[in-house]
Amino acid sequence: MGYVKVAYKKIFRILDDSPYPPKGWNNFVKKQEINHNLIIKSRKNKCFCTNCHHQFISAKKINEEIKCPNCHNKYLIKRSNLKSYEFKDYLSILDIVDDTFVIRYFELKTIIDNLHEHHSSVVEFAREIINKSYYREIFVNDRVSRCQCYNYIHHSYYFDPTKWRKYIRNYSLIDYSIVFSNNLKSILKNTEYKYSCIWNLAKHSTYIDLSSLLEHKYDIHKVELLTKMKLYNLALSANRFYDNGSFQESFGVSKDFYPFMRRNNITYRQLKILRLLKEKNIQKIRYLEKFIHYGDNIDDLEEISNYISLNRFIKYSKMHRGKIRTYIYKDYLRFAKLLGFDLKNNRYAFPKKLEEEHDKLKQLYKIQNEKAIQKAIIKRSKKLLINKYQNDKFIIFPAKSLKELKNESIQQNNCVQTYAEKYASGICDIYLMRDIKNQNKSLVTVEVKNSKVVQSRIKNNDAPNEKQLQFLYKWEQNVLKGAA
Ligand SMILES: [Zn+2]
Repeated sequence: MGYVKVAYKKIFRILDDSPYPPKGWNNFVKKQEINHNLIIKSRKNKCFCTNCHHQFISAKKINEEIKCPNCHNKYLIKRSNLKSYEFKDYLSILDIVDDTFVIRYFELKTIIDNLHEHHSSVVEFAREIINKSYYREIFVNDRVSRCQCYNYIHHSYYFDPTKWRKYIRNYSLIDYSIVFSNNLKSILKNTEYKYSCIWNLAKHSTYIDLSSLLEHKYDIHKVELLTKMKLYNLALSANRFYDNGSFQESFGVSKDFYPFMRRNNITYRQLKILRLLKEKNIQKIRYLEKFIHYGDNIDDLEEISNYISLNRFIKYSKMHRGKIRTYIYKDYLRFAKLLGFDLKNNRYAFPKKLEEEHDKLKQLYKIQNEKAIQKAIIKRSKKLLINKYQNDKFIIFPAKSLKELKNESIQQNNCVQTYAEKYASGICDIYLMRDIKNQNKSLVTVEVKNSKVVQSRIKNNDAPNEKQLQFLYKWEQNVLKGAA
């Protein structure tokens, strides 16, 4: 149970006592309610719209969407033996009391019963105080209860809507809501958000995170700019954009794309795809969006686009009914490229069995890569053999093979194995220092660059002892530098 500060209690009391609902709210709720309808389908393709009660015939299937020919709204089709169906939406109002912003959250719930009639109700269940700290301050009333890890909001009259407590669970109760826009302009009038255009943004968007918009006030001029450009969805990601610069610098595409971006009210995720695709084609962008599994991370598509055009990717994906696992495909393409396959040729770019071909190429790459490294190491070690050196206690010699490097790595418990590629390509030299009487056992692993010891390590990456260091110093002075 979280207690409510006295100052907040006062604010809540003022809100509870102030006239409610604000002008226009009822119409706003009704508008949202219209979305809470279904098309009920019975025998012989007979359809019934629960919104306007119009009856019509359609061959469309259950769970598909259809536009009612009378009210022109798009609804989901359900079977006539449906027991009940529930819709929920979250609505919010911004309010201000004593210079403190409060967001009031409401749940709109509609139940369509077995007689296909709908019953809607809207109740306030949470309030959020916009503060300047990192933590959000959300309060819930009696209507909110927890039921097996998720919050349930009661709509009946038995719950006291004026009994507030602090919401203290660490998962979010609510972020996005449909914001009532009518009062926004007047509420923000004398505040630092007076030019923000948030009211226009709310009018043109469905769900927005109002709290985050108000908290990121340093981005608010970007929200304003993007809203004025009528790029409403991009305004919701305003924090992703830099402050100034040309259109190209800000959006990553040339200005010719602006009308297209505006017409389709593109999202930040869609913009990222547009940057790669560079084509004014919203269908293709939406198709590619299906391959983004979280947020706006388009790394896989980006990597794929390095090897083949996204148009070819779409073609390949359609050949497999969209069932392409992009993280496997991008690896496949990388291996194919490294192995020198011609990716312009569909035979290589469009594998029939992706998973199988991926594993094959991965194996092939590993073998070829190791073969190449092994060959290079043998060649280099022969050249470096002139630096072999010994006294009556120690001996030092270049690593002679990949196997020897791997063995050293295991014995010493270090990562010298990962130096194999660098050693093979001549970026560094790896020497093994051993006890003269026990030359098979690892002692010190030594990395040399430009005739200088840059790293020397005994087991577990510890530093060598004084005697060992003295030997290395002597070797460096007499052999390496002498040879250079
Ligand atoms: Zn209708």
